Amino acid sequence: MNWRRAIARGVSEMHALVRHASTAAPGFRVLMYHAVGSRISEDHLGIYTIAPTLFRAHVAALVAYPGMRLTGLREGLVGEGLRIAITFDDGYKDNLHVAAPLLLDHGIPFTVFISTEFVRNRDANYLSPEEVRELGALPGVTLGAHGATHVPLTQCGDEALRHELVASRGYLEDLLGKPVTVMSYPHGAVNRRVRDAVASSGYTLAACSRFDINAPGRDPLLLCRTDILGIDSVRVFRQKLHGDWDWYRRKNHDPELGISTPKITGMT
Ligand SMILES: [Zn+2]
Repeated sequence: MNWRRAIARGVSEMHALVRHASTAAPGFRVLMYHAVGSRISEDHLGIYTIAPTLFRAHVAALVAYPGMRLTGLREGLVGEGLRIAITFDDGYKDNLHVAAPLLLDHGIPFTVFISTEFVRNRDANYLSPEEVRELGALPGVTLGAHGATHVPLTQCGDEALRHELVASRGYLEDLLGKPVTVMSYPHGAVNRRVRDAVASSGYTLAACSRFDINAPGRDPLLLCRTDILGIDSVRVFRQKLHGDWDWYRRKNHDPELGISTPKITGMT
């Protein structure tokens, strides 16, 4: 654990100590996972893949967590109290083979955001076209786009941006034979121009990487997420569900208020 992470852990432990034990923050919390067990070569810190045993423990803690509703991404936008949705970014093979069976066993809906060039190129770590179809046919599973080439969309000119959004969506729709209207921003890179291009490309819901819970009235094209890492023990996971890590929101500007281009490091 590096020193920054150690400090973050300490601050969150303080939040956990002073909060009232029985009150989790209400709102819509969208969890962001990446790989479950796969090695990611660009992930030098080993934080974007979670061991299957730890993922299983997270799911058990989630199911046992009191006073919340597990929901699909779109369904969680409305309602009272704490709603929690699970998402995975990038489209790793293990999402189908490791995560899906476990989540299906518990009847937990989830969303996978896929960078479509990895699929088209049959990159070994990522879902193949056949596996995308298989995953998309499972009950409670929503598939969304994550750009075509996983490039930060804020770095694209207008034409390339349009291509990333339209080509990824079209590819998935052709594969699945149904509309695709959700996406997440590669590297969390989004600004007003990108957000508006997402809207005009036919998406109605998009997730960014700003760390926070979503309050009522949040722009559905800029949904905040709770980043869950491969180093998050069950204790830390429960703290994140509870809101003890939401102070992390201060790390980045809120794209709802202006430009948000997080420091881009490796594969996120
Ligand atoms: Zn990504």
